Amino acid sequence: MFTIDAHLDLSMNALEWNRDLTLPVDQINARERELQMTDKPDRGKATVSLPALRKAEIGLVVATQIARYVAPGNALPGWHSPEQAWAQTQGQLAWYQAMEDKGEMVQIANLKALEDHLNLWKDGSDARKKPVGYILSLEGADSIVNLKYLEKSYETGLRALGPAHYGPGRYAQGTDASGPLGPKGRDLLREMERLSIILDATHLSDESFWEALDHFNGPVWASHNNCRALVNHNRQYSDEQIKALIDRGAVIGGALDAWMMVPGWIKGVSQPREMDCDLEKVIDHLDHICQIAGNARHIGIGTDLDGAYGREQSPYDLETIADISRIPGMLEKRGYSNADIELVMHGNWLRFLQRAWS
Ligand SMILES: [Zn+2]
Repeated sequence: MFTIDAHLDLSMNALEWNRDLTLPVDQINARERELQMTDKPDRGKATVSLPALRKAEIGLVVATQIARYVAPGNALPGWHSPEQAWAQTQGQLAWYQAMEDKGEMVQIANLKALEDHLNLWKDGSDARKKPVGYILSLEGADSIVNLKYLEKSYETGLRALGPAHYGPGRYAQGTDASGPLGPKGRDLLREMERLSIILDATHLSDESFWEALDHFNGPVWASHNNCRALVNHNRQYSDEQIKALIDRGAVIGGALDAWMMVPGWIKGVSQPREMDCDLEKVIDHLDHICQIAGNARHIGIGTDLDGAYGREQSPYDLETIADISRIPGMLEKRGYSNADIELVMHGNWLRFLQRAWS
C-alpha cells in the first residue's frame, strides 16, 4: 500500500553518518561492520535506505534538515554559531538535490507536484525505478540565522518546520528543556504563517507547545510523536495536547524509536527483545489517539527510524523500514476498516497537505 513516512533524517545520515542511501540497507551495514566503525551507537544497524523505502511503497517522506546551535555550557552536540548550523543544513539540502539529479528522489513542494507524484506511484509500474518524493522540513529552527533565512529556505522548498529539537533552542524550547517561545519564537511563527510553512509541533516543551498553538494560525501537524499516557515522558503528548491537536485538524505520526514505544527504556542499556518492544506497540499509541478523536483521521506514520539510532533501539521484529508494510495487517486485526487503514498509511497526511497547499 502506498505509504507516507512523515519523519526521516535522510540527509543527516548521508552526511554525518557517511551513508550512501542509494545502497540496500544490508550493504550499508556490511561496510560499517567491515570497517569496525564504533563512532555511533547504530553502526552496522541501519534500517533505512532508499531501496528499502521503495520496497515498502513508501513513496513520499517528510525529510529533514537538522543542525543545532549550542550556547556555551550546553552539553548537547551542535554548532557554535547559527551561521555554522545554517551551512550544515545547506549541505544537507545539496545532498537532496544531488539525489534529485540522480533520479533517486524528487522534491514535492506544491499541489501540482504532489498530484503528479501520486499518479506516478499509482501507475502500476516497477516501484524500484521510482523516485522517492520528499517534502523538505527543518527539525529545530536554530539554523535560521534571522527571518530572512526562513524566506530563503522557503524558496529552496522548505514546507514544514519544528521550532525546537532536543534542549534549549534559539526560537523555542525543546524536549527535556522547559519554558516558552518568547518574542523571537512568536516572530518566527508569524513569518511561517506568512510563508504558509506547516508548524511541526513535535519536540516542543509543554510551555512552548501551548504558546505556539495560541500564536500560530496556520496548519499544524506533529510528524513523529507518541503518547504520554502509555510512556510517560515530556517528549510525548499528554491527552490534553492530543485533544488540542485534533481540534486544530492535526495529524500525528507514530514513531518507532523504542524508548518512546515501551515504558521503562534506558537508552544504551535496554534491548528491544527484553523490553518486549515489537512493531505492534506503535499500534497501541496510534489507537490511543483514535480513541480520543473518536475516529482514525488524525494519525499517520512518522517512523524516525534513522534518527541517530538503528536496530538496537527499534522494534525487535523490524529488520528494515520495509517492515512497516506489516502495519496495515496489524490495524486490520484491531478492527480498523480498509478505508481507515488507507487513511493511516497515507490518506490523512495527503488530506492535510492538500488543504494546507490549496
Ligand atoms: Zn525528532
